[in-house]
Amino acid sequence: MSSTLRFQVVGEAFKKRPVEVLSPKERPSEFFAKYVFNRQKMMRYLPTEVFKKMVDVMDNGATLDMATADAVAEGMKRWAMELGATHITHWFQPLTEGTAEKHDGFVEHDGKGGMVEEFTGKQLVQQEPDASSFPSGGIRSTFEARGYSAWDPASPVFVIGDTLMIPTVFISYTGEALDFKAPLKKALHAVDKAATEVARLFYPDVKKVVSNLGWEQEYFLVDEQLYAARPDLVMTGRTLLGHDSAKNQQMDDHYFGSIPERVVAFMRDLEIQALELGIPCKTRHNECAPNQFELAPIFEETNLAVDHNMLLMMLMKKVARKHGFRCLLHEKPFAGINGSGKHNNWSLSTDTGILLHNPGKTPLDNLRFITFIVETLMAVWKHNGLLKASIVSATNAHRLGANEAPPAIISSFLGKQLSEVLEHIEYSESAELSEFSEFSKATKHGVHLDIPQIPELLIDNTDRNRTSPFAFTGNRFEFRAVGSEANCASAMIALNAAVAETLMDFKTRVDALMEQGVDKLQAILKLVREDIRTCKPIHFDGNGYSEEWKQEAARRGLDVEASCPLVIDRYLDESSVEMFRKTHVFNRAELEARNEIKWETYTKKIQIEARIFGDLCLNHIIPVATRYQSSLIDNVHKTAQIFPAEMASSLSANNINLIQQISEHASYITEHVEKLVEARKVANRIESEREKAIAYHDTVAPLIEDIRYHADKLELIIDDEIWPLPKYREMLFIS
Ligand code: ADP
Ligand code: MG
Repeated sequence: MSSTLRFQVVGEAFKKRPVEVLSPKERPSEFFAKYVFNRQKMMRYLPTEVFKKMVDVMDNGATLDMATADAVAEGMKRWAMELGATHITHWFQPLTEGTAEKHDGFVEHDGKGGMVEEFTGKQLVQQEPDASSFPSGGIRSTFEARGYSAWDPASPVFVIGDTLMIPTVFISYTGEALDFKAPLKKALHAVDKAATEVARLFYPDVKKVVSNLGWEQEYFLVDEQLYAARPDLVMTGRTLLGHDSAKNQQMDDHYFGSIPERVVAFMRDLEIQALELGIPCKTRHNECAPNQFELAPIFEETNLAVDHNMLLMMLMKKVARKHGFRCLLHEKPFAGINGSGKHNNWSLSTDTGILLHNPGKTPLDNLRFITFIVETLMAVWKHNGLLKASIVSATNAHRLGANEAPPAIISSFLGKQLSEVLEHIEYSESAELSEFSEFSKATKHGVHLDIPQIPELLIDNTDRNRTSPFAFTGNRFEFRAVGSEANCASAMIALNAAVAETLMDFKTRVDALMEQGVDKLQAILKLVREDIRTCKPIHFDGNGYSEEWKQEAARRGLDVEASCPLVIDRYLDESSVEMFRKTHVFNRAELEARNEIKWETYTKKIQIEARIFGDLCLNHIIPVATRYQSSLIDNVHKTAQIFPAEMASSLSANNINLIQQISEHASYITEHVEKLVEARKVANRIESEREKAIAYHDTVAPLIEDIRYHADKLELIIDDEIWPLPKYREMLFIS
């Protein structure tokens, strides 16, 4: 863009008036889930028998027979058509970003030359999208390019515009998962089974355990005209160039600040649309960085929460455009200021209403609490490398491991109170026997247990540590390392499956001790004590961003690898393969295939960045640098013509200095962009996806950062009037 255009665009963006703030006549309680075929609607639109069967399918995982599916489809169609729907689509989460859909009309020939609107059970239950262009990591060879999508009755269908959307899993002809939902459902099933068994040790009436997820979605908004003038934002979602703005977040004046009117209009519109689709939006606020915001719903069952997050990200992009914004979900759109994450608040709860990660009132409740905390920590300790692998990506690397980012290490913050309780349990060993008898008496007769901290403490556990990637926050863990752009399913698959494994293992060990005649509660306490010791290395309450922690974590045997392509290897560690096998989440072939896709995706992301970055340098930056430099040279020449030599050289000293600086930066950039192209060529010739991704990480990505430094210096030197790209101060302070 030419400089005059930049000023026009910036001027326009500044002028924008707030759009009208929507205020629907109904209250949120009235329009909540308006476009969702939830239980209420099922009750209204399905025959009673069919409704009962559906409840059995949804709650107890009963199999759906075709006759029921047909009846459900009929009711759904009637409901959807009343809302104006004309099409259906299976909606799934392939291993790319985002979601996929393929719309089919309800229309069918009626055999008499006309049309009828039809929707059968078969269409509801199964579709066969042309799968050949979705990544499969080689599982589905192209001649067998079949993929099936199959309805997930646990996530209700909904209507957007004229389309009935049906959440589905996406699997290959031979049954391997090609998506996020299929393995997520398996992991959730595994953790349900394992946690139910352990919960029953305390409460025999528990029949089911549910995994809960409350995500907090961070994002940036940028005026769409400024966005359009930044090819790097358009192509990669982040700025590859741009010097710090003089003011950014140093004043801490954005966090929880009052929300600009135009942004509020966007948020309201977004919330209304999200609520209508059944997403229970609750919290909205400014985040740390300028133009950064957050939206958080009330937590839900994990499978549904994941679908809702995918849906919300789609809505955010759509609604932002309506308000003249672009919504940036990238983890690090701007250097030098905070990036965006998606904290995953996670816990387990029983069908009897007990939050298993929440302390309770009785000693028994508290032993249950400690058991679930410690077994969660065991999972995080044992699979810390894998959990990191579940959240790494080329984009999230900017929040974990790369420049400016905290070290890529998974550890868990417990806070003072919980740490003290665990320590007390660990060291009260000398009183072991008496404590055990006290303990059994306690539970039988309601006598106070000799773990004094547990009953009163922790109820109001408010201490926080914002540097911890996996922090205990009172009644849940907060997995903070998840990236803003990511599908939460990836982290949730790894976490729930890993916890399922340790709980299974815990139950087996309790059973073994009980077979030897050890009392149940004594057995539990003994194992909890043992495990507190074993998983100690994962517990870290200090500053997770410090250099010392890196050394200390390595000494503790935690995974400290920061290179994204190498972290991905953790999926193929024997401990991971074994864990996923035991929990029936993935087989080895699936893990291998999915890793191929991860490496390939990593490579492509960096490749696109490198290409657009090279273009920006050569077609945008260097030409204006040359232009400005020529005008300086011209000035120096003319000065020499009109002033005596000595005076001229003194008058031109500053310009000559600038001319030299521009030369130096410009030649650095030109030379190194050539190297960047060469590095890409070398990497592209590598056959193995893993090795190629490593080459991109080691040789291509660092060059971009390296060259950027010089381009950003030029931004400071060159006349503002001819600088071709909107600057940080323009993109970050206009809303
Ligand atoms: P923060 O103070 O960490 O920013 P927020 O209020 O933004 O907290 O978000 C917290 C999220 O955690 C919400 O989605 C909330 O519903 C969810 N949450 C609260 N309790 C639990 C729990 N026990 N299990 C899972 N998620 C929870
Ligand atoms: Mg929050």
